[in-house]
Amino acid sequence: MPAQHPLGMLAVDDLVAPEDRDLQLAVRHFVDEHVRPEIAQWYDAGHVPARELTRELGRLGVLGMHLHGHGCAGASATAYGLACLALEAGDSGIRSLVSVQGSLAMFAIHAHGSEEQKDRWLPRMAQGEAIGCFGLTEPDAGSDPAAMRTHARRDGDDWVLSGTKMWITNGTVADVAVVWARTDEGIRGFVVPTDTPGFTATEVPRKLSLRASVTAELVLDGVRLPADAVLPGPRGLSGPLSCLSEARFGIVFGSVGAARDCLETALEYAATRRVFDRPLAGFQATQLKLADMTVELGTAMLLALHLGRLKDGGRITPEQVSIGKLNNVREALGIARECRTILGAAGITGDYPVMRHANNLESVLTYEGTSEVHQLVIGTSLTGIPAFR
Ligand SMILES: Cc1cc2nc3c(=O)[nH]c(=O)nc-3n(C[C@H](O)[C@H](O)[C@H](O)COP(=O)(O)OP(=O)(O)OC[C@H]3O[C@@H](n4cnc5c(N)ncnc54)[C@H](O)[C@@H]3O)c2cc1C
Repeated sequence: MPAQHPLGMLAVDDLVAPEDRDLQLAVRHFVDEHVRPEIAQWYDAGHVPARELTRELGRLGVLGMHLHGHGCAGASATAYGLACLALEAGDSGIRSLVSVQGSLAMFAIHAHGSEEQKDRWLPRMAQGEAIGCFGLTEPDAGSDPAAMRTHARRDGDDWVLSGTKMWITNGTVADVAVVWARTDEGIRGFVVPTDTPGFTATEVPRKLSLRASVTAELVLDGVRLPADAVLPGPRGLSGPLSCLSEARFGIVFGSVGAARDCLETALEYAATRRVFDRPLAGFQATQLKLADMTVELGTAMLLALHLGRLKDGGRITPEQVSIGKLNNVREALGIARECRTILGAAGITGDYPVMRHANNLESVLTYEGTSEVHQLVIGTSLTGIPAFR
């Protein structure tokens, strides 16, 4: 019998518009050409050529691709999600670069910035000529961003920012940082060129996950900014939370990509690896694993496409994004770990992508809201009782 692709079995491609399928193929081709040949080595070295890669991703047209105007492609949310899927099949670190650039830094400026801020940054960021980062988390304020200590005070017309941001993707390579800080008027966002005196970024050492991604600590030591550096958009946490919802949406799709890559690898391995004189794929115990993973991958993909439709129709809610992020990352991590068992000892090496994906997904499980935080968001919605505190 001819072997079927796990996603082909559910004919999910039938649910994707032809132009979106073409785009996904173009991104897949990009990943095959620019990421796959290098990724194991970048991961080993804990170093990714972020600037060069960002320019290439800009040429591909995926940076801020779901935003309209100011040099952005204006694609649908579903198309953006499918691009995230194809990128994360290469590595979660590459998708993280694109998510932080497009859904966090660019989205913040696009949704909450002035026309001057948009004109200054968005076209260059869409082209990959300028890199952005997004500073919300602090050493003592992760799941609870309201506990942030970074503050901005007025000094004449200027703003002066002080504080520390932690775990910031793209931090050391960024040209611009969107930094959230406490002010007399509530939490506000600031557009900070990273060459401003008092701004320093240091890479977080000894990461065992997302090694092909830059993660940094940002220190703002009396960073003086002109009056027009503040995002004129909303005061309070609704500003940063709106950006997080965008990035979480990309993860709903992206995690499916990592899981798909693991399952494809395990299927291929099981077909050729012989144990007890037969291909590993021919044993019932292996097929049970493969079948369960195919069910989870398919349902994760259908959930992602459903959320894509809702978002394109302007009807998506944060709780729905939480359901998608919670389920798809959790299932992707489960698939990665199960695929690792199929590869046996070979699965623990960098010769195969599976353990790299599993390690990456540990970060994906934590950032953009931990699983527990998403469970609490869903729980609040179900009961009407916020149980965060
Ligand atoms: C690789 C990487 C990249 C990142 N990139 C960025 C970035 O670009 N910008 C940015 O701002 N941040 C970024 N982050 C930070 C990320 O968003 C935070 O790590 C995340 O929000 C969790 O915060 P924390 O690590 O401080 O964990 P904590 O908030 O300390 O949580 C620790 C544990 O407690 C649980 N917990 C917390 N509150 C509750 C509760 N009320 N009830 C039950 N359990 C609870 C959590 O679920 C978790 O299991 C990144 C993180 C990583 C790992």
